[in-house]
Amino acid sequence: MSYFSLGLVRFKYVVTIVKSMKEGCAVLRVYNTLSRSKEPFEPVEPPLVRMYVCGPTVYDEAHMGHARTYVAFDTIRRILEFFGYEVFYVQNITDIDDKIINRAEAEGASPADIAERYSASYFRDMDDLNVRRADVHPRVTDHMEDIIEAVARLIEKGVAYEADGNVYFEVSSFPHYGRLSGVKFEELIAGARVEPDAAKKNPADFALWKKERREGVGWSSPWGYGRPGWHIECSVMSTKYLGPRLDIHGGGQDLIFPHHENEIAQSESLTGISSFVKYWIHTGYLTIKGEKMSKSLGNYVTIREVLRRHSAGAVRLFLLSTHYRSPIDFMWEGLEAAESNLRYLVNTMDRLEASIRQAEMGSGPVEMHAKITENAKKFILALEDDFSTPVALSHMYRLARELNAYLDDQETFERGVLERGLRVIAKACETLGIVTGKSLSVPEIVEKLIKILVEVRSDARRRRDWKLADELREKLRESGVVLEDKGDKTLWKITR
Ligand code: AMP
Ligand code: ZN
Repeated sequence: MSYFSLGLVRFKYVVTIVKSMKEGCAVLRVYNTLSRSKEPFEPVEPPLVRMYVCGPTVYDEAHMGHARTYVAFDTIRRILEFFGYEVFYVQNITDIDDKIINRAEAEGASPADIAERYSASYFRDMDDLNVRRADVHPRVTDHMEDIIEAVARLIEKGVAYEADGNVYFEVSSFPHYGRLSGVKFEELIAGARVEPDAAKKNPADFALWKKERREGVGWSSPWGYGRPGWHIECSVMSTKYLGPRLDIHGGGQDLIFPHHENEIAQSESLTGISSFVKYWIHTGYLTIKGEKMSKSLGNYVTIREVLRRHSAGAVRLFLLSTHYRSPIDFMWEGLEAAESNLRYLVNTMDRLEASIRQAEMGSGPVEMHAKITENAKKFILALEDDFSTPVALSHMYRLARELNAYLDDQETFERGVLERGLRVIAKACETLGIVTGKSLSVPEIVEKLIKILVEVRSDARRRRDWKLADELREKLRESGVVLEDKGDKTLWKITR
């Protein structure tokens, strides 16, 4: 199927960005957790966007909370590409951690086996959700030398210290600590939100390297046998692949503190550059009965289980029908509603495609073109407003309704309007990752089959076999294909 010819849109968009940058305002606006406001999106080196998203800890099947966050960032990446940016996307895999080690011990397996099993299942789930793979998925265990070197450098710089085989980052050395999360240093000293530890100089200090007593789960280091703290891996791997300044760094809201706060302290101390990340983007929680879905609460539904009952397109549509920063409550009814909304969009595209083949040459009524223009413009404007997918989708539903009404009302239609309407809806669906080109190739076969049946029925009419002709017309009508006899010609339409 022919998609929205993006070249022109991209070109116009980049021209507009350049023009509006000169005028001092960018087109796309993005909510930045750091400033707690929507800001014009101006990457460090446009049209390149350096994007890092914290990846999963692979110790179990991924659940719908993970789908919420990773579908959101996949969609943000697709939208940025739609706007003409080149996105370099890195997402780590945490393949060594307490939970992985505990699971390995419980199963008598090695942590590497557990990590391998669940990273494979994570990628399978993401592939099935039409979440495109990042450009690089670095794993912690492949970057141990880089991590040890970074910890040593932090000690050299005097912002970290060793205590009994552990290494801690000294939070008081970093004046901007708390800027992202709003957490006050004094509260941390009181120890309210951090684990106290006798070896630390200050309760707020956090581990860069942890001493390990168990065999086979650690690495040798200048501080003895151990393994890295969680936060340091993201500072090291993001900088390694993307450099010292990222345009976008993302994750779920639960990562703002302490994970991302600690990443800033480590990265900026290591590089000496004071703006590690330009735009911090955080997703709202997926909840179930109002509570955050999580493995530890046991209130989770796996992606696999959901995909057994629903199409990937419907799952994405369900997630994207709420803004990425808002909470979204998981409900099977919500997925069913998404399934029927998806069907409506797909049926509209099928109907348009089939109608194009029968349409007359001509550009179609100017009012219909105006409606397409208006909805396409509003779709783009919604995405420019902090990636507002729910608003963007509402314009595609409206356009679909208007195009269906046009097909319902007319006896004959002109190609121009149908082709353009189809292009806009198909490109919108592709940009949000809810319909793939593959699922749209079916109607060609359907069309051929319809034509065969129409031909058989025409033969029957010529033979005055009215019984068969009526039976075929009725059967086709039940399947959503309406026939209309015009003299010796038969026109057909796919209804919704
Ligand atoms: P983790 O399970 O800690 O490895 O989480 C991986 C990513 O999924 C992080 O960015 C989390 O914030 C995100 N995540 C986990 N649970 C949820 C949830 N219920 N809603 C939204 N994001 C979540
Ligand atoms: Zn991270």
